[in-house]
Amino acid sequence: MAANERKGIVLSIAGSDPSGGAGIQADLKTMAVLGVYGAAAVTCLTVQNTSEVAALVPVAPELVREQIRLVLADLPVTHVKIGMIGTAAVARAVGAALDGFAGEVVYDPVLRATAGADLMEPAALAAVRAEVISRATVLTPNLAELHALTSASGDRPGELRAAGRQLLADFPRLRAVAIKGGHGPVHHGSVTDYLVRRSPDPASPSCLEATHPWVDTRNSHGTGCTFASAFAAFHLLTGSDDEAFTRAAAFVHRLLAASAGSRLGGGTGPLLHHLLREER
Ligand code: PLP
Repeated sequence: MAANERKGIVLSIAGSDPSGGAGIQADLKTMAVLGVYGAAAVTCLTVQNTSEVAALVPVAPELVREQIRLVLADLPVTHVKIGMIGTAAVARAVGAALDGFAGEVVYDPVLRATAGADLMEPAALAAVRAEVISRATVLTPNLAELHALTSASGDRPGELRAAGRQLLADFPRLRAVAIKGGHGPVHHGSVTDYLVRRSPDPASPSCLEATHPWVDTRNSHGTGCTFASAFAAFHLLTGSDDEAFTRAAAFVHRLLAASAGSRLGGGTGPLLHHLLREER
């Protein structure tokens, strides 16, 4: 067995994007390029390209549960990465399938597609909180997702850190909240991601920042999925939240820069993971 598989593998639980830019397709590309084995259980079929989301077809909850159950029963899954959940019934199925799973759970709380379509029923949020976020060890919201999950509405660093702290207080299993700055304000041509970590003193959890130059590109489809998958892969490889966060942020930045010149599709173009296949 190769060295990395001895450490474990990552199971992605997410929607399918047939254009290959986001969802399980982005997750598996990220894991492959980072040298980690990825398995995938599909929660929803999306009918989309780079310009539009034409349909969403949730997978039957019992099939979601059984995909996860069979993979967990057979393969050495140490890390689960969760993306699009879509409906309350799928949230409950994922929660039931992960009952008893004691490994890492990195949840990217996907609400909307980059192209603008809603990817989560508003009524599903309560079940997502109770069944999925309650089982997560790391949460990776963007600004809009952070606002939907907390009472925060601003984008100043102090407000983001406070919102991260609120999530750590609400969900005892969460160890860290990685807030992606890509949808937030661009300060002096740079963008900052924040990792709000639980610390022994609940009143002052520590925060790590990763700042990178802003990449002016339309090719940002799948950046959220890629960040969360890279976090899971780097956590598997290093065992450290700080390393996983810092390296995932740098990886997404390199990928945005490397993919900026491509013209794939007429809308929000995808990241080209294969361009970084020599980099670890
Ligand atoms: N999951 C699926 C299946 C999607 O289709 C999308 C966006 O279209 C996302 C997740 C979120 O994508 P992003 O990584 O761009 O936030």
